[in-house]
Amino acid sequence: MAQSAFQRATVEPHTEVDDRVKKRARLRRQMYLAQIASFILDAAILFLYSLSGTIPVSASGWYLAVAVGWTLITLILSELHVNDRFQDHYLTVPQSLGSIGIQLAAIYFIPEVGFYFACIIFVVLGFGALRMSARQTAIVWAYAAIGLTSVFTLTNQPIAMPMESFAERHLTLLCFVTALGRCAFTGLYGASLREALYKRGNELKVAHAKIEELAQIDELTSVFNRRYVMRALNDEMARAQRAGTPCSVAILDIDFFKRINDAFGHPAGDEVLRGFAISLAANMRSIDKLGRYGGEEFLVIMPDSTRDQALVGMNRLRQIISDLNWGSISDEMRVTFSAGIAQVRTNDAPEDILARADVALYRAKGEGRNCVLTG
Ligand code: GH3
Ligand code: MG
Ligand code: MG
Repeated sequence: MAQSAFQRATVEPHTEVDDRVKKRARLRRQMYLAQIASFILDAAILFLYSLSGTIPVSASGWYLAVAVGWTLITLILSELHVNDRFQDHYLTVPQSLGSIGIQLAAIYFIPEVGFYFACIIFVVLGFGALRMSARQTAIVWAYAAIGLTSVFTLTNQPIAMPMESFAERHLTLLCFVTALGRCAFTGLYGASLREALYKRGNELKVAHAKIEELAQIDELTSVFNRRYVMRALNDEMARAQRAGTPCSVAILDIDFFKRINDAFGHPAGDEVLRGFAISLAANMRSIDKLGRYGGEEFLVIMPDSTRDQALVGMNRLRQIISDLNWGSISDEMRVTFSAGIAQVRTNDAPEDILARADVALYRAKGEGRNCVLTG
């Protein structure tokens, strides 16, 4: 069954929201799986340490169970979309607190390789800070500092970096290399976030420019719309009055446009409006501004032009339009316009000059049309 416009309008935004929620869940899943892989790597290194006799075998088992267990819980919560209820759907603060807590416990219970867990705290805080506010980062940093202080105070065991045997030295080297790799990954992740923001910023700029353009252009004729041309009239009048330079305004009205619509149809009338506006714009000075004032009425603002200069310019345009070949619409088509011109006076408001131009236009219509007069 065909969807009504109303149904489409109400259904589509939901689909968009669903897609965004799904995309967010996918990104989180990737992050949690990477985190699980990273903990498994840690546990594997700990296991190798236990093989070289540095720590008991159970230590790597415990570490694996707690760290992976914690990440699995966060993954399940994420899949249940609990995260989506919060502004930061990554739940970066609780996530960082949990991970740092695990590392602090590991320093306390496995101090023989405590340096490694301390390294991981750096990585966790650095990674989290990319998504946290300054306040959140300060909270997590304070938590880590208090946690480290407690661990350093509570244990009298050395928090060590094993270097005794050949195996220990190389496992310690491996710890540094993997920790460095994670630091590099954090940097790359930060760069990708920055790049995404930069891209989004550019997209917004383009969208904004498009909106600005649409807000000032008349949809049918592509010349300025009434709102924009009235603003331009205000600006140009103020400039002329301030500088004491001349400025003239013309109101143009297509003659017998109703008859054109009646004889050739409304779409043909639209086509005439488009052709009319394009021909005017193509034959005007570049400093003049053309806008659609109403249905078949247009406004032309002519800076640096006296009433008489404007009259010459308008009569030239009148001639061009009346000579134009409209054969593409109909061989019988003839289009002319009448216009009233007024020049800006020192104390004029926009309504004053428009009223004078309108009176002149009215007289031009009275004189038989296809005529330009000044007021
Ligand atoms: P006059 O020479 O006295 O100006 O006669 P006119 O027929 O041009 O004047 P009138 O104001 O009576 O008619 C203007 C017509 O313009 C009426 C309206 O239907 C038509 N019109 C207004 N906007 C549009 C439009 O966007 N497209 C089309 N095709 N016609 C329009
Ligand atoms: Mg009219
Ligand atoms: Mg008309």
